[in-house]
Amino acid sequence: MGKANIPDGLENAARKPASAETPAASNRRRTMLLTRKAEFSASHVCANPALSAEENFAIYGSNANPLGHGHNYVIEVTLEGEPDPVTGMVFDLRELKEIINAEVVDPMDHRFLNREIPPFDKVVPTTENLAREIWRRIAARVNAPNARLKNVRLYETADLYVDCTGVDLAEDAR
Ligand SMILES: [Zn+2]
Repeated sequence: MGKANIPDGLENAARKPASAETPAASNRRRTMLLTRKAEFSASHVCANPALSAEENFAIYGSNANPLGHGHNYVIEVTLEGEPDPVTGMVFDLRELKEIINAEVVDPMDHRFLNREIPPFDKVVPTTENLAREIWRRIAARVNAPNARLKNVRLYETADLYVDCTGVDLAEDAR
């Protein structure tokens, strides 16, 4: 189709100058991602109590061994926000470290997740479910006008990780 067939209005829209940027686009450019990393070691059994030992072994393999096995977990907690014009910070990094320690590392380090850390007495502590629980714990503590929790990345091993980008709290309450 030749250019001459484009109605005048559409042609003008396509030629809109770059300076006529929308406020939303401008906000996106100012937004930054801030990530803090932490490690903890914990043991777990991947087995659903509602299923038989045979069924659990078929689904989870040796991870269903009732005596458990351990992982050196690594978490990366990412906040999204605009740097404060006065402090130049998206979020206070010391506070973020305190939140991660208080909500995740201190309670979970060197623990048997299934026996010591609710809800894993009822919920299978897969990497996915553990990342959701970490999200739930940290999101409740990140209260800042210019920052929000964007992602929780949980490495179970060096070559396996899960990204949790949100939790449906209504679903959690069921
Ligand atoms: Zn495991």
